[in-house]
Amino acid sequence: MPCNHQHVHVPAGHGRTFEVRAGQYLKVVDSNGQQAADFVAMQVDDLQRYLSPAHTRRRLGSLFFQVGDCLYSNADEPLLQVIADTVGVHDANVPACDSSRFSVDFGVDGHRNCLDNMHEGLAAYGVLDINVPEPFNLFQNGPVTADGRMQVTDPTSQAGDHVVFKVLKDLVCAVSSCPQDIIPGNGLQVTPIDILVSDEPPVAA
Ligand SMILES: [Zn+2]
Repeated sequence: MPCNHQHVHVPAGHGRTFEVRAGQYLKVVDSNGQQAADFVAMQVDDLQRYLSPAHTRRRLGSLFFQVGDCLYSNADEPLLQVIADTVGVHDANVPACDSSRFSVDFGVDGHRNCLDNMHEGLAAYGVLDINVPEPFNLFQNGPVTADGRMQVTDPTSQAGDHVVFKVLKDLVCAVSSCPQDIIPGNGLQVTPIDILVSDEPPVAA
């Protein structure tokens, strides 16, 4: 089989959808730094099975993941394994921002948002917006305080920081460069995300 490489550029504040195959490597790069990337994945052969932060939290016994951990589906099967992570700070606890987050919470109608960004490409697979799975929010900084309260603040990631996953099942993935520019979350400056898919582990992963 010929070596296959794919580069998906996610423009600032937009989303992209793409497929990966079992055995490949998926590298998500915060190209400019301090940019959250909402990420969902659904099985190509059965869209009812998708990456589930809730099942992953139960499996890991943790609100956060680290290198070596697998991320699990709603059918409790591993879909991805984390093989490299130059940041170590991500969020698996809050939903994607959506139109009501901006219109109700901030009084801004028609603001770009992660749910629409991810649904845009998934709609071609017949996925309804209400069925876009809960995301893993890569690079998002959502610390939990000692008394159990949740915060969202700016990412600690710097330009070029990345996460690499080994792909364990054929997946359709959607990534959103979070358009949140009203409160901290992306350094108040929305920037692109780059995706690299390869048959071999990325160099210096
Ligand atoms: Zn967002």
